[in-house]
Amino acid sequence: MNPNILQTPIDYLKGVGPNRADLLRSELGIHTYQDFINLFPNRYIDKTRYYKINELQRNNADVQIVGKIVHIKTVSQQKGKRLVARFTDGTGEMELVWFRGQKWIKDHLKLNTPYVIFGKCNWIGGVFSMPHPEMELMQEHEQSLRTAMQAVYPSTEKLSNKGITNRVVIKLMQQLFIETKGQFIETLSRPVLSELKLIPKNEALFNVHFPKSQEMLAKAQYRLKFEELFYIQLQLITKNLIRKNKIKGFTFDQVGDLFNGFYKDHLPFNLTNAQKRVIKEIRNDLGSNAQMNRLLQGDVGSGKTIVALMSMLLAIDNGFQACIMAPTEILAIQHFNGISELVKPLDINVKLLTGSTKTSERKIIHEELESGELHILIGTHAVLEDKVRFKNLGLAIIDEQHRFGVAQRAKLWHKNEIPPHILVMTATPIPRTLAMSLYGDLDISVIDELPPGRKPIKTVHRYDTNRLKVFKFIRDEIKKGRQIYIVYPLIQESEKMDYKDLMDGYESIAREFPMPDYQISIVHGKMKPADKDYEMNRFLKGETQIMVATTVIEVGVNVPNASVMIIESAERFGLSQLHQLRGRVGRGAEQSFCILMTSHKLTNDSKTRLETMVRTNDGFEIAEVDLKLRGPGDIMGTQQSGVLNLKIADIVRDNEILKTARFYAMRILKEDPSLQEEQNKILRYVYAQLIKYKNIWNYIS
Ligand code: ADP
Ligand code: MG
Repeated sequence: MNPNILQTPIDYLKGVGPNRADLLRSELGIHTYQDFINLFPNRYIDKTRYYKINELQRNNADVQIVGKIVHIKTVSQQKGKRLVARFTDGTGEMELVWFRGQKWIKDHLKLNTPYVIFGKCNWIGGVFSMPHPEMELMQEHEQSLRTAMQAVYPSTEKLSNKGITNRVVIKLMQQLFIETKGQFIETLSRPVLSELKLIPKNEALFNVHFPKSQEMLAKAQYRLKFEELFYIQLQLITKNLIRKNKIKGFTFDQVGDLFNGFYKDHLPFNLTNAQKRVIKEIRNDLGSNAQMNRLLQGDVGSGKTIVALMSMLLAIDNGFQACIMAPTEILAIQHFNGISELVKPLDINVKLLTGSTKTSERKIIHEELESGELHILIGTHAVLEDKVRFKNLGLAIIDEQHRFGVAQRAKLWHKNEIPPHILVMTATPIPRTLAMSLYGDLDISVIDELPPGRKPIKTVHRYDTNRLKVFKFIRDEIKKGRQIYIVYPLIQESEKMDYKDLMDGYESIAREFPMPDYQISIVHGKMKPADKDYEMNRFLKGETQIMVATTVIEVGVNVPNASVMIIESAERFGLSQLHQLRGRVGRGAEQSFCILMTSHKLTNDSKTRLETMVRTNDGFEIAEVDLKLRGPGDIMGTQQSGVLNLKIADIVRDNEILKTARFYAMRILKEDPSLQEEQNKILRYVYAQLIKYKNIWNYIS
């Protein structure tokens, strides 16, 4: 077969033509034969089974029945006319109903002639009734190309309105197999095929569109999913290898006085094993001559800051500068305070740069950066400004990565001739499987252990009707000297309403907890940054006992004395957000609590979210549930990743296949990085084709 036949524009497929081609392009993104053959069915209808009418259940899905129409009539009712046929198979009777196209159907239906009908059965008014059944004369049915399972293809309203029904798509797919003779180039290598017992490409494509049996369908799907995930992994791992080989990084080959001295004499606590392991991983990277590009995942409170600091000490030990970039001013200030405190005994110059840094101070920072006097710069986006030039930036750390885009990561790279090492820290646990496919070009470190002595946060769910009890609980905690967060949702579409909710809430809390006994801070998105900081600081210093806020406090704020987190309208928050918010408490020695307040109206999904929060504190477990509830598309930071474009595999369900694919891609590239060996040539060819025709997505680079 001409290997390029698959690049033929879809217009040329017999039965398509210019109008249908336009629709296929605009509605499904199908431009070529190749695109069309990769239009994989969403599901299949089992057509192996024939039902008898007396077997039908009231909640049957689609069923297939053989029988005859014995009577047909038009029924008028208020809403209009419908055509009703009485259909029987000897075991019972049912109705077939049409609302559209009644005349044509009435003229063409044959009475007392065997039909195979197919469709969804409803139980209405004491009889089974099938609206708009698919019908085929028994005689024709026996002659047509039949497969056990019938594909149901993705479609859109526009497509079906313009007559490109599922039936038509199936016909066109048959035509494609006729024109290509069902011969497609094998895309996996022999060793992979035989080791994994995968079926050949031809068979897989045929059976995914026209399954011969359940078993063959499963084999076809497995093979195609594997192939899809395999090539993505091949791409990600290749990129990673190229980076390691070609992108030279600074080599931090000394573990010097700062690092060692700090480790020996000034560590405020013993590192957890997870922290030690991660520091070692980072040290290995920094000591090699390749640029580090590492993602550090650790749940809130797992102690990422100390890891960041020790990595920066390594940089300084080797004569380089380091910086930390945080998504908000509050967080930058917190990092600055925390790190300044930790390095007090060391001879290190640390400075803070944010949007509100005064011009005079800014000037000093610029000078010290260029002269190399400044060792550590901590800041917000301000760090990225062109005016900010380092003498020799060796390590850049980005905290809370999902707030920064890929472009910004790249910008840091270009601050030097040789790119600095990059450490991205995130507290949003991304399930490993997803991380693997999303950030396959990053190395990943995980802190999967909390510092000892933490009391797990107690989480409960309370209905709004129990508010008085909750107020009493707040009072008791404040009496013990604790501080309280009360958080209101802020969802963009209804910002006005949210603001009103927040203000109403604030007023009722102010009534319940009046001055001068109680002091309340309030923070929301509409405030000026300076006012926000002022209020935050009052709470931080313990001058106020209650902080009423929108989700602006979501990320990173550290007030160890705050031990209660109350989340209002908790049903409106996503799981990862709830978990982030809860992470604001449980930072001190006291028992902490999280109270999820909701109305009685809860969807199943919100019930699952609330139950999950009550059941576990484990961020990774929560992330897995979240992924299952929402699918990968909505998980933060994945939008631009292309995961959504998977054609047949599913990141969540096909987790195991993903692991296998990654394992094989890794093994092959390890043995033969540029795929030169005879047996791998096919992989190199297919990979090049995929890139050439943009059938593989550009992941984060
Ligand atoms: P996060 O990972 O959320 O950024 P932090 O680095 O802010 O966490 O650490 C949370 C708190 O835990 C801080 O108060 C920090 O001093 C403390 N901490 C970190 N590591 C340890 C440890 N190994 N033992 C005890 N406390 C620790
Ligand atoms: Mg942090």
